[in-house]
Amino acid sequence: MTEQKFSETSPVTSPAGLRDPAGPVSPGPGAVAALWPLGPDQARLDPGGLLGQWQRRNAEDTLPHCVDNLHRAGNIGNLRAAAGEQDTAFAGMWFADSDVHKTLEAAAWELGTSPGDEALRSFVEDTVALLARAQQADGYLNSYFTVVAPDERWRKPDWSHELYCAGHLFQAAVAAARTGVSPELVTVARRFADLLVERFGPDGVEEVCGHPEVETALAELYRLTGHRPYLDLARRFLDLRGRGLLGHGRFGPAYYQDHVPVREAREVTGHAVRQLYLLAGMVDVGVETGDHMLLDAAERLWEDAVHRRAYVTGAHGSRHRDEAYGDPYELPADRAYAETCAAIASVHLNWRLLLATGRARYADEMERALYNAVAPAVSSDGRHFFYSNPLQLRTGHTSSGEEAAARRLPWYSCACCPPNIARLMASLHGYLATAHDDGLQIHLYASGSVDAVVAGAAVSVDVRTEYPWEGRIELTVSGETAVPWTLSLRVPAWCDAYTVRIDGGPVMAPARDGYIRLTRVWAPGTTVVLDLDMPVRHVTAHPRVDAVRGCVALARGPLVYCLEQADLPPGTVLEDVRLDPAAPITAIHRQDLPDIPVVINLGGQVAHAGDSLYVTGRRRERPGTPLTLTAVPYFLWGNRSEGPMRVWIPVATS
Ligand SMILES: [Zn+2]
Repeated sequence: MTEQKFSETSPVTSPAGLRDPAGPVSPGPGAVAALWPLGPDQARLDPGGLLGQWQRRNAEDTLPHCVDNLHRAGNIGNLRAAAGEQDTAFAGMWFADSDVHKTLEAAAWELGTSPGDEALRSFVEDTVALLARAQQADGYLNSYFTVVAPDERWRKPDWSHELYCAGHLFQAAVAAARTGVSPELVTVARRFADLLVERFGPDGVEEVCGHPEVETALAELYRLTGHRPYLDLARRFLDLRGRGLLGHGRFGPAYYQDHVPVREAREVTGHAVRQLYLLAGMVDVGVETGDHMLLDAAERLWEDAVHRRAYVTGAHGSRHRDEAYGDPYELPADRAYAETCAAIASVHLNWRLLLATGRARYADEMERALYNAVAPAVSSDGRHFFYSNPLQLRTGHTSSGEEAAARRLPWYSCACCPPNIARLMASLHGYLATAHDDGLQIHLYASGSVDAVVAGAAVSVDVRTEYPWEGRIELTVSGETAVPWTLSLRVPAWCDAYTVRIDGGPVMAPARDGYIRLTRVWAPGTTVVLDLDMPVRHVTAHPRVDAVRGCVALARGPLVYCLEQADLPPGTVLEDVRLDPAAPITAIHRQDLPDIPVVINLGGQVAHAGDSLYVTGRRRERPGTPLTLTAVPYFLWGNRSEGPMRVWIPVATS
């Protein structure tokens, strides 16, 4: 067995047959990338596995719920008004069209795997036709600025979200074309994109959008069409950023990342979703143009975000006021903003960085965000959502609005998050694995299968696993190749020990750079069993994270756990509970809780700290009766009852 280190191989061009049809991110033939995504028909999630369950719930509940709410909240009516077909007041936020576009994108990915969903197909056909009718003669398409404020068109780039909405339209069109669901939407998108090139292109207006998004979307539209001016415009928008073109605004230019040229930025700043979407655009343009300064800057900013400003859940953004990153280590658990869209953006960004570099740290971070920052936003019924995702909900919590809700809500006045969840979940199978000239790489473990053309032949890997509840992953290779190829399996950074067996026999398979690489001429039916050790882990934060000093978080496998009031004895106040570090801690399989297969039992006590808010000298807590605590996966919190919760648990000091 030899080892291959693909992150150090020279950049490759797309192997034939891998990109048609393509998934959510599909580098072009000349791109500089380490790994290549599979097409959406080359990876499948088994509905029995957790990720497959999420995808099925998305199709059966979240997506129809989004469609219903687009009608109910008036987003569809806005477009009808723009088409001159009804005369109603504009409803919702001025960027309400983006929710339509995101839902269309989700529907396209879903129809790509489930073409028989007639209701969803009707939604796509009707909405695409409506968008075509609402589009202006010159290609412009935005219901707010068509119906409400035609004189304001292109007048307020810091605020208008016109290019942001255009970006989501382009991404919907790319999804609809790649899945063959609606090539017609590409015509609408290109008419608008051509208008953007004409207005903002090389000799055009020097402006950027206050909310990045169009950059990554234009790069994807270029990848779909091969039309270079779209990529050039994406690059131009990046190049123009940091010159103060957006003005100071309410929160200053760092809020929308216009304070410094993107290649020179050293810290993530401002609105977290904008920052992360901008980074995604930087990676896309960097990969397509070979601009290493863009990629280097993106990796540098990723390090700042992940090493100094991300929550233990992988969530981004700690400030409510401007939905923004805080100072380094400013990570309050109870006041976490942690917008769902920022977590989705993190998945998008990490996937792009993984493709660009092949570095396992991006797959690790993508997994962390998916399980602990995206998944908590959706209720078990798939029809209720968090906008912000606190890591602690206190006893006596009072909500300061939708963005600090104590429970998931069915919809929001700013409904950016639910359709964003829908488009990620509908395309989730696209994030499992990648291919390279000489092999297949599996990054996320889930029951399902992946196919690829490797070493000139079609191969398939069937995956069976209870992950993330168990660490055993069973893979069966089929397809016949006459030459060796490499099956690469990620060993997550949280995993300290694992074993590998091939056809039942143990093999030595040292992980290098986060991956086990198994190279051989694979006989059809060969089985590989990877057993990842999955003990419960105590996680502590850097001491500069003052907000959680003296606390630990619990994790097992990729999942972060939390305590909920629902699991405490009556009368116990969650804030008074302490973890006993000397007590045994065990993962327990619960047959009686079908939605929570594995809980963690640990020893704790209820501390008595007295009533004084402040005391002179060191406060001494009187330890109370020991009790057994039950921690549940954080992504499942708030599904049984509304009530206090905490991820970070104070450790008993006496
Ligand atoms: Zn959002």
